Amino acid sequence: MKIMKFGGTSVGKPERMHQVAQLITKDVSEPRIVVLSALSGTTNSLVAIGDAMASGNREQAKQLIDTLEAHYQSFIKELVKTDKLYVKAKSIVSEHFEFLNIILKISFSEALSKDILAQGELLSTKLFSVYLEEKGIDHMLLPALEFMTIDAQDEPQLSTIKVKLNRILQQNTDKKLFITQGYICRNSRGEVDNLKRGGSDYTASLIAAAANASVCEIWTDIDGMHNNDPRIVKKTVPVEQLSFEEAAELAYFGAKILHPTCIWPAQQQKVPVKLLNTMAPEALGTTITQEAGSVGVKAVAAKDGIITINIKSSRMLLAYGFLRKIFEVFEKYRTSIDMITTSEVAVSVTIDSGSNLTSIVKELEPFGTISVENDHTIISVVGNEIAQTKDILSKLFDALTPIPVRMVSYGGSKHNVSMLVPSSYKTQTLQLLNKGLFGLE
Ligand code: ADP
Ligand code: ASP
Ligand code: MG
Repeated sequence: MKIMKFGGTSVGKPERMHQVAQLITKDVSEPRIVVLSALSGTTNSLVAIGDAMASGNREQAKQLIDTLEAHYQSFIKELVKTDKLYVKAKSIVSEHFEFLNIILKISFSEALSKDILAQGELLSTKLFSVYLEEKGIDHMLLPALEFMTIDAQDEPQLSTIKVKLNRILQQNTDKKLFITQGYICRNSRGEVDNLKRGGSDYTASLIAAAANASVCEIWTDIDGMHNNDPRIVKKTVPVEQLSFEEAAELAYFGAKILHPTCIWPAQQQKVPVKLLNTMAPEALGTTITQEAGSVGVKAVAAKDGIITINIKSSRMLLAYGFLRKIFEVFEKYRTSIDMITTSEVAVSVTIDSGSNLTSIVKELEPFGTISVENDHTIISVVGNEIAQTKDILSKLFDALTPIPVRMVSYGGSKHNVSMLVPSSYKTQTLQLLNKGLFGLE
């Protein structure tokens, strides 16, 4: 079994969908599960529709629904040629937009917002299926809502997914091509939910692990993981090979090409992951396996929206158990800490979500003087055995002379050196590292 995931831009135009159909039928030596995202821009529109409804602005929500529907109406005109399949595509579009218009009339809830968000992937897969039908390509739509589940902590349950998915596959051994939705799932209450933004990569990796796939291909709009963020730095180059650990660090610390937690399922089952370019299918891309391929710096990534919490306390002096008490507060509010530095009288930690900040600060107050700094960015330098790489720190600090580095994390992982900088310095930091570490300008 081979898994092929196509992101929003890869299915965002009718001609792209046509190209995807070619890519998934090129090599038929093994069965394939194709995971599709929503058409590019759709999930953003659905988020905006949900936000408008949540704030009681039904008129705006209606306008957004109509604009999105018009987009789909013109999309299907170019997607299929025959009248019969055009009518079929049109009725799929009508069905899903009718659903959105019904939701508009009922009182808004968190669960409804998840239903709204699910429409993107449902539409893209159904429309793609209509196109495959027109082309006479035998396939089966695999409903993700029947096998992709998350538990009460919003974590995917790989063992349950495995059982449910394999049951469906075993009932359909005559099929060699399956099309399914990325991103969407059911939660522990049985409601429609999702794997968070960018979650289609996660779907692909979970399916790859559950089906014990030979490869998990992530097809996107760039030729693999680049050494630096191509949205910010002009000259970047693809990295040929990464280990699972390196890829996981880059994804977690901001390389948008991969969902932050999508590596672990593939790693657990040792399924190689390939990052490939739909617009340039012959490009080498990036291969992610157990082996790193080489030692040293591979890439840098940046994670924004970081909040720093400083706890100053003279009572900390020689006090054992102090850090445990602090960590317990973050555990209580299910907030993970990304970076930490300590001195004898102070601890600084960083978090990436401010949703429980007020409560966390309140509960930390008995331990000392608390201060909070917003708008920080973690810059991560990732590479195999990086901590042992000769001169890495001197190279880093030479490159970053003009940058007011606020924290450094070195030695926690063999694959990562992270620095915290004010977000206003992010672009400059990434550019300086591109020159200092990779000799690219
Ligand atoms: P998809 O819609 O296919 O899931 P995404 O937009 O989520 O695609 O991810 C691909 C984008 O990730 C690229 O267009 C690129 O701008 C961005 N990106 C950020 N950091 C990196 C990186 N280090 N290497 C490659 N792409 C990156
Ligand atoms: N459509 C979802 C999003 O835009 C999931 C994905 O594309 O990975 O976040
Ligand atoms: Mg993505």
